[in-house]
Amino acid sequence: MQPNNHNKIISDYPQKVIYGYFSKIRFIVGLLLICIYCVGCWLSYDGHQAILINTEARKLQLFSWIFWPQDLFLLSLALIISAFVLFAVTNIAGRIWCGYACPQSTFFWIFSYIKRKIIPTNQNNKSNSNYKYWGQAILVHLCWLIISVLFATTFVGYFVPIKQLLTSIYLTTIEFTPAFWIITITLVTYINAGILKEKICLNVCPYARLQSVMFADSTKVIAYDATRGEPRARHIKTNVNAGDCVDCGLCVKVCPTGIDIRQGLQYECISCGACIDACNSVMTKLQRKINLISYKSQNSEKPWYKTPRLIGFLLAISIAISILTIKLVSRDLLLVEILPERNVLYRVVANNGIENIYHLKLINKTSLTQKIAIEIINNNQASIKGNANFILDANDISQHVIRVVVHNPQVVGSTPLIFGVKSDNSQIQPMKVESRFFVPNIKD
Ligand code: SF4
Ligand code: SF4
Repeated sequence: MQPNNHNKIISDYPQKVIYGYFSKIRFIVGLLLICIYCVGCWLSYDGHQAILINTEARKLQLFSWIFWPQDLFLLSLALIISAFVLFAVTNIAGRIWCGYACPQSTFFWIFSYIKRKIIPTNQNNKSNSNYKYWGQAILVHLCWLIISVLFATTFVGYFVPIKQLLTSIYLTTIEFTPAFWIITITLVTYINAGILKEKICLNVCPYARLQSVMFADSTKVIAYDATRGEPRARHIKTNVNAGDCVDCGLCVKVCPTGIDIRQGLQYECISCGACIDACNSVMTKLQRKINLISYKSQNSEKPWYKTPRLIGFLLAISIAISILTIKLVSRDLLLVEILPERNVLYRVVANNGIENIYHLKLINKTSLTQKIAIEIINNNQASIKGNANFILDANDISQHVIRVVVHNPQVVGSTPLIFGVKSDNSQIQPMKVESRFFVPNIKD
């Protein structure tokens, strides 16, 4: 068995890469996710980038939908749904997210693949951690850095329009903030996937620690068939009682976290299936039944869909999806906020008039320009001085100042003032916005 070197900062897992059924699945899933990630920021919709988190304008563009900070509840619901989907998948199939889809694992496998291609393991199948040629080592790190830069630039392309970002890089006019994030994410990717690797999964990721809460008897986990494999023996020809395990240690060498799965399920196992591919290759060579190591559940009799936890997770997902759908369908397409000026409560104006100032904020959540008309509907004496009609661009936010004057006010103190807001968009119903009008006691 290989010595466990988790206490070293730089480990050399996996020490070997064996290709098989599960590595193909990992490759296909990884490739698909990377393609989605890379293509996502290049999609355009109606003349703008289809997926863009515009931090400056504080809005999230998702094709025709625009989400503002006021829509944070919807985003929270989407995150809750994703979390429960992850819990449900874990309940059925264990940590397959970690093994097949987590960005950390995906980049870790890519980096490992590059390293093993450039610096193959030597004939004795020992790790070649002391690089034979510095040139090879430099090439490995260069490839890792190039991939990290591409990943980081694409990532920032979801926050700054990608075409604008690439042009600014090309013309060397890139601003400090995107440049800072590209450098930071490049370093994080390079260090995480190339150097720290499984240390992140073992020591940083909270998911590994939480998995026991999501597991059930029927959850599929990676398991070694000890009944069939033991007693393990290297020299099977001389040991008639030997089990199927020939103690070749290949399942340990291919493990990205360096564990020996023959010692039972350990929290370090990320369910990647690399040890199954390795052991199956040995069993095939020895012309024995494959799947000495395989995905198994503790209680194979129990159907996976009959666990109370899974039912609970599915119920939570259904409720959250229903709420999200209702909220999305009934989402206000026009948001109006009218707040009185706090610093100056009133002003005395000509003809015995009292003026109050209001701050108007309009948010257009449609992809059409809107004409907005504001009026006062509960006080005949009150009138808006100046512009009360506004043009609001598609998916835009605008702020204005409204002046309301009441001549010869009869009532002093704070009284209700109701604004009527109408849009020329027939989808948007007229709305009322309540505020207060303040009249001082003139004798004061
Ligand atoms: S024990 Fe097997 S499935 Fe688990 S992390 Fe190691 S190689 Fe992957
Ligand atoms: S790869 Fe299979 S045969 Fe080799 S040590 Fe692991 S379990 Fe035993």
